[in-house]
Amino acid sequence: MAQLSDDCFAFGGPMMSVDEAVSIIAARVTAVQDIETVSLTAADGRILAKEISAPLPLPPFTNSAVDGYAVRSGDLAQLEEQERALPVAGRVQAGAAAQGPVEPGQAVRIFTGAPMPQGADTVFMQEDVRLDQGRVVLPAGLKPGANVRMAGEDIPAGHSALAAGQRLRPQDVALAAAFGLTHVEVRRRIRVAVFSTGDELVSPGASRGAAQLFDSNRFMLMAMLVRLGCEVSDLGILRDDRVSLASALKSVAGTLDLILTTGGVSTGEEDHVKAAVESVGTLVLWRMAIKPGRPVAMGIIGGTPFIGLPGNPVASFVTFVHVVRPTVLALAGATQQHLIPMPVRAAFAYKKKIARREYVRVNLRKGENGVLEAVKFPREGAGLLSSLVDTDGLVELGEQITLVEPGQTVGFLGYASLI
Ligand code: AMP
Ligand code: MG
Repeated sequence: MAQLSDDCFAFGGPMMSVDEAVSIIAARVTAVQDIETVSLTAADGRILAKEISAPLPLPPFTNSAVDGYAVRSGDLAQLEEQERALPVAGRVQAGAAAQGPVEPGQAVRIFTGAPMPQGADTVFMQEDVRLDQGRVVLPAGLKPGANVRMAGEDIPAGHSALAAGQRLRPQDVALAAAFGLTHVEVRRRIRVAVFSTGDELVSPGASRGAAQLFDSNRFMLMAMLVRLGCEVSDLGILRDDRVSLASALKSVAGTLDLILTTGGVSTGEEDHVKAAVESVGTLVLWRMAIKPGRPVAMGIIGGTPFIGLPGNPVASFVTFVHVVRPTVLALAGATQQHLIPMPVRAAFAYKKKIARREYVRVNLRKGENGVLEAVKFPREGAGLLSSLVDTDGLVELGEQITLVEPGQTVGFLGYASLI
């Protein structure tokens, strides 16, 4: 387990910006050290433990980029003004060894991916030539070196191709395969326990009392964690009772890498998570300058980090993105992936408080001249699941903004980019 010190989440000020939260996490949370070797088919989404440098150049040999005719560039000087016919002296297809050098004044029939015959360094596309009695008629004006892929032009041998901490994507797995690797070394998946808290909650499938609702946050959070590559333990619903909360938290601390709860962290009389964590570990309430969002409880129980998210689904979603996601990446040994909003045109007006970051739920549509426009979801409540389900993502309004007017450029984050 990654053992964190009790003051890991200490913070002095009254309010914390989103950037401060992320930088505290990135600086103080240490990664799990265990390394596993996984096959390429199981590598997508895993965190690379060690840098991979290219064991061979890509492409490994110089080859033709097209189906056509390979010639020597020495012959091209005479080709500049008028077409020229060359005898076709051989044929080389993909996978075949090139048969000997191309003599000056000769052409070789060649196919995409086939090795360039010795001496040849330029390929005419078959669409650009015509055949005339065993000779190929080449048009004027092709640049020497055209349509050839040089050995190592993609990646030279020895180049640092994939960095440690990279969360492997399908294209990264493809690169490992292109190097001939069958397995890669990755950090082990981090293990996260998830609880919901609240007397009003029941699990889907159980019978629901008149004043109860089905627990939805737990399933959202578990799905987000799985997307981030975590191994998730579903620990159900805890009642609003300090003693039972404390014993449940204590019993899992030390057996996994992160404990995540939702609900019960406001400062109401029935919000017992804070007191429960304080009785078995240390806790700091992070009051983040963010909307939607509520205080997030950050704690350490027996060396294991604890994060208590607010109960309102939208606040829970947004704080997950800014606090849980960076924590999971840091624990997993992944490079922090900063969110990069995409510029779009606001199709709404909005007033906000200075010094607070706000997220507006929006749909994208194509506006005038094909410019992407963000249309605000009509309602704002932090309890509205429909506002997450029926939208494409969030418009991020920075701390300094106080007013958005229609037509203004704003930054959009699609949901897929957030996890
Ligand atoms: P709390 O943070 O416990 O004060 O809860 C704030 C609001 O979020 C209340 O209306 C709760 O009923 C609701 N809520 C809390 N936890 C969940 C959950 N797991 N799923 C859905 N709604 C929840
Ligand atoms: Mg509650």
